[in-house]
Parts: sequence; structure tokens; C-alpha cells
Amino acid sequence: MSDAKRGGGPVEGAGREARAGAGRGGAGPRSRALNAVARALFPGGVNSPVRAFKSVGSEPPVIRAAKGAWLTDVDGHRYLDLIGAWGPMIVGHSHPAVVAAVTRRVRRGSATGTPSPDEPRLGKRVVATMPWVERLRFVVSGTEACMAALRLARAATGRDAVIKFEGCYHGHGDAFLSSAGSGALTFDAPDSPGVPQSVVGATVTVPYNDLAAVARAFAAHPKQIAAIFVEPIVGNMGFVRPDADFLPGLRRLCDAHGTLLVFDEVMTGFRVHRGGAQALFGVRPDLTTLGKVIGGGFPVGAYGGRADLMAMIAPEGKVYQAGTLAGHPVGMTAGLATLREIQRPGQYERLAAVTARLADGLEGTLRAAGLDAVAPRQGGMMGLWFARVAPRNLTEAKATKTDLFRSYHRAMIEAGVYLPPSPYEAWFVSTAHGDAEIAHVVSATAAWATTAPT
Ligand SMILES: *Cc1c(COP(=O)(O)O)cnc(C)c1O
Repeated sequence: MSDAKRGGGPVEGAGREARAGAGRGGAGPRSRALNAVARALFPGGVNSPVRAFKSVGSEPPVIRAAKGAWLTDVDGHRYLDLIGAWGPMIVGHSHPAVVAAVTRRVRRGSATGTPSPDEPRLGKRVVATMPWVERLRFVVSGTEACMAALRLARAATGRDAVIKFEGCYHGHGDAFLSSAGSGALTFDAPDSPGVPQSVVGATVTVPYNDLAAVARAFAAHPKQIAAIFVEPIVGNMGFVRPDADFLPGLRRLCDAHGTLLVFDEVMTGFRVHRGGAQALFGVRPDLTTLGKVIGGGFPVGAYGGRADLMAMIAPEGKVYQAGTLAGHPVGMTAGLATLREIQRPGQYERLAAVTARLADGLEGTLRAAGLDAVAPRQGGMMGLWFARVAPRNLTEAKATKTDLFRSYHRAMIEAGVYLPPSPYEAWFVSTAHGDAEIAHVVSATAAWATTAPT
């Protein structure tokens, strides 16, 4: 293989971390060379769209190593990481206990296509932690978990339609890639070419935190709704919290209409609270989807919930769902090691406290500079909005000053802070973040704020 095919030049080298500390970051010559090769190979130069930095109008530094709360790019720049691989890295990167467990597992073989010992161990831990997951099935991604949960909900109810919320993300399964029809009264239209109208023609999208719209959707489609899918705290339109009566209201409406309530906890599970959003709010879902943290940085998803529903899955029942690499031994081991660390006494409290100090620090710094800013947070997850009050739905999220974010993001990358490259993404904090890391973000933010347009 030629050098050009491998990525256009050497990327390994000694002492790069030592050469540059955090600061003056951004895609340097080596990142730009790799990105040029990647753009020829991959659509947009990436293997998942948000990584492309399209919405912030620049190009991504290529990260060659990650340790604790810090990333190092191929040009030797260091960044404090607030992406956390989009959620999984709750104990920080390359945590010694996770690395040791994974290394041991790989030496014994990576995959066997047979039952392996850490599947029931991780499964037991999930069931012991999530209040309304009685049984579960491991899959490979959050997308797959949501697709399977929808199939199960349809099988269990004998209905086809599903209600979801504007701004929530449930992976890229066809049924979830739709745009709202008019006012919950009509079914949706495809939101991506290639998605058949016949598939999204059973999806109804309504605004988040709008119980009246959900009630209208039920009234417009009597006895047709199999499930409501909801992110119990939203991370995929930026960080948006449910109103106090929203999730209990969904539970009541589901009970009244014979519909299953599905909490998509792919992001919130093991992240916003030890027992996920369901434990935090004390609201019972019928099914739960999981991903991200439970794989400890490896591709793992899961869906689970009521035992009577899970008994319908093959080979116990007739609802088909399978996976060559499902319950992958290395992913199970990484997930188990990660949960063991984060579930040690005091870890969730520490994580929440660090996240709160960061959120408070940013709010205070930006407001002191005369900017409207609000940083809602829960557990190890937060958001930052350039607005006086936190948005409650996608329309309000879009009405915040998202135009400020592009300049903020660029300044932060240059200062050595790797934020999600979109105002509509949540930020993720880990137990490897501490006061020095918070101070680094807050001082970089303060420096930007003095130059920011108000
Ligand atoms: C990330 C995410 C998914 C999709 O998970 P993948 O592993 O990326 O397929 C689904 N739902 C929510 C809430 C997510 O945050």
C-alpha cells in the first residue's frame, strides 16, 4: 500500500505531546493532509456527519491519542475534551482499569460467536441499576437498539404508528428519519432521500414538552399508536430538560391509549444519574434503549424493559432480531469495567459536582461579559445556550443566538478545548475532569467573551 493510501504521510512521531501544550490548536498541516485523503474516501471526509465541523465552518483536528480528559492531535496540539466520544467516556479516556480488562480479554480472543462470560455480568449490572429494565438484549449500536425496540413495540401492540418529538434523535433507522407533518394531525414526510414514505408514513412528530400536541396525535390516530419514543432529557438538540409534568403526562397518555412508552436512554443512561433518567424522574418506561456508556468506548447498544415484552424476542418468541457481533466480548468487558469504576461510591456525586462547577463557571463568565448565557446540566451532561432562559423545544433552541457559537467554537479549539462542533449537541464531562480542566475552559471562554459581539 502506498503512503498516499495510508493517509498521506507519517502520523506517528516521538515527543509531539511534549512539543506543544494546550493552545493555538486547530487543524495543522498533518490534520489537513489526513483530512484531504479522508475527503476523497469518505463522504464529507468523515464516517459520521457531525465530526466534519461543517456547522462551524472549519475542519477537524485529527486526534491520534486520548488520555483522561485530554486529546492529542496529529500535529501535537492538546485539547481538553468535552465530547467524550459523544457520551461513552464517562471515566475518561484510556482509564487504566478499562485498558487492563480489555487487554486481558483481547489476549483470550476478541470474538467467538458463542456466549461469553461478561455478557451475563454486564446484563446483571444493567438490570440491577436501571429500575425498569427487567431483561435485555445486547446489540451493537444505539441505532440498532431503537430499531429493535420499535419492532418489538409494534409486535406487542399489533399497531404500526409511532410518536416521536422534534429535535430528539433515535439513530438513523428509517422510521425515525422523518419531518413533522402539520400539527400532529398528519403522519410525517421523509427527512432523508432514500427513506420510503411508506415507512415514515407511520411516524408522527410533535414538539417536545407539548402534552397537548401528544393528546391531539392520539385523537387523530385512534388505536394506531404502538409507542412513544422520547429522550427523557434531550441531548440531541443541545441540552433540553423535560418540564416536570411532561414524562408523567406521557406515561398517563400511554396508559390511557394502550401505547408503550419507550425511553431512549442511549445518551442519558448511566450518565445523568446512576439509574438513568428513569430513576432520576421516577417515571416508568415499558422499554428502554441504551448505548454509549454501557460499551465503555466500544460499539455496544441494548434494549430491554418489561420481562413479558422481552420474552417475545427470538429465539424465545417470534420477533426476530440478531447480530453476528452482538454482545461482543470486548465491548462487554469494557462496559463492565467502565460501570465498575463509575459505580464506585461517590463517583456520580463527584461527576455531577464537576459538571455543575463548569456550567456555573461558564454562565458566570459569559454573563459578566454582558452575554446572555445559560448552561443547564444534569449528572455528567450539560449544554450551553446563548440565551436568557434555557429552551424547552426545538423552536426555542433555534431562536437562541446560535450564530455566536461558530466564533466561540473556533476560539475554543484554538485555545485547546474540543467542544462538540454544533450548538445543537450536548457536552460530556468525565470523572477525569477536575478543577484544572474547568479553569482552562473558563479562562478560554473569558478571553473569547471580551471580543465576542453581544
Ligand atoms: C447516540 C444516540 C443514538 C444512536 O446511537 P448510535 O450508537 O450512534 O447508533 C440514539 N439515541 C440517542 C438518544 C442517542 O444519543
